[in-house]
Amino acid sequence: MIYYNLKDHQEKIDFKNATIKGQGKEKGLFFPENIPQFNEEFIQNLPQCSNEEIAYQCMKDFVGDEIPSEILKEIVAETVSFKIPLVKINEQISVLELFHGPTLAFKDIGARFMSRCLSYFLKDQQKKVTILVATSGDTGGAVAHGFYKIPQINVVILYPKNRVSPVQEKQLTALGENISAIEVNGSFDDCQNLVKQAFSDQEINSQLFLTSANSINIARWLPQQIYYLIALKQWIQQHKEHPVICVPSGNFGNICAGLLAHFRGMPADHFIAACNDNHVIPDYLKTQKFEPHQAVPTLSNAMDVGNPSNFVRVLELFGNQFDALKNTVSAYSVNDKETINTITKVYQKYNYLLDPHTAVAFASLEKYLEENPGKKGFILGTAHPVKFPDAVEKAIHTSIQIPGSLNELMKKEKKTVEINSDFEELKRFLLHKI
Ligand SMILES: *Cc1c(COP(=O)(O)O)cnc(C)c1O
Repeated sequence: MIYYNLKDHQEKIDFKNATIKGQGKEKGLFFPENIPQFNEEFIQNLPQCSNEEIAYQCMKDFVGDEIPSEILKEIVAETVSFKIPLVKINEQISVLELFHGPTLAFKDIGARFMSRCLSYFLKDQQKKVTILVATSGDTGGAVAHGFYKIPQINVVILYPKNRVSPVQEKQLTALGENISAIEVNGSFDDCQNLVKQAFSDQEINSQLFLTSANSINIARWLPQQIYYLIALKQWIQQHKEHPVICVPSGNFGNICAGLLAHFRGMPADHFIAACNDNHVIPDYLKTQKFEPHQAVPTLSNAMDVGNPSNFVRVLELFGNQFDALKNTVSAYSVNDKETINTITKVYQKYNYLLDPHTAVAFASLEKYLEENPGKKGFILGTAHPVKFPDAVEKAIHTSIQIPGSLNELMKKEKKTVEINSDFEELKRFLLHKI
């Protein structure tokens, strides 16, 4: 498959090089040159398909012959090697639990696929790659875990000191080996700025091959289609009508993957982008004006994004037709108070504990269903509530138990390097310490 740069359509690249490079000239995102359609029979027979088979059907056309099919089958099997259940919360709303992977976040799926593809592509090369990421909590853990002990790859993660939860911190800092965690005396924005400076620093780039592992990378973005089909497989066994699909959204990589699957022939009634107080896209759908702003901090901090990077891909999918976009996608903004109230209500009424991101989705889908009675749908459960104990405890007034599966992790020692929000300190580390 060939991909083109959305900022410069002349720049074309194959799957392998798009995976290695991440982004194109002028920081443009890559986009597939054509949208391969699902076979109708495949969609009808989903209930008979294993998750591995669904994953393979989702990805094969995007990879083409750049990875032999037996190896791609192994890669996708490892990508979805944990349960992804669709759980009914009430008659109208179900939740697709995407948090049963190693770091209890949906980002595990994209990170696992990307790491294994990158590892395959680097196998016969001398090249060493350094993955540099800033995280507000979730991305770092998934990337650290996805790339742990993968040869020829070093991972450097920057996170804001004292601003990630205890579980998140252990996931970032306890692995060691090829994973380095840097605690920055500053905010997430400071971390992001340091990473940006590193990507444009000549001296660093002459010595290291830097790449990123965020959802800009097609090898992290595209595999997110897989679980929409895994959801549908479970949905059609219980429902006749097509689902409304509601996605907690920050950079819009996740919802864009669902929309891509829909364009390929996956049935869905409607899509909803659930946002917190960072409401650039809900505003855009009202006014047709795209006005990025500084991110404001909220309880669902993995969605605190003021300029959603993947939204250009959403626009490209719809051929920049605003009306077509509006017919398929709605967006809501849910503030922290509503988020807390939703966690409380759903816990009391249905005995189901939502994390703050998934709660934003629940509240958004409820709003849509009120305006559109008779419909039903599911939300994407993007993180386990134990990763966001402060918000959850505020809502249900009891502390939440860390699941036994995390005992080992929580006992491990934290290993970090601490730096100030000072580029020279990061540069010294990158040039001399890894
Ligand atoms: C990253 C993240 C999101 C946002 O996903 P995007 O693809 O950036 O829209 C939502 N919820 C959680 C828990 C996340 O970690």
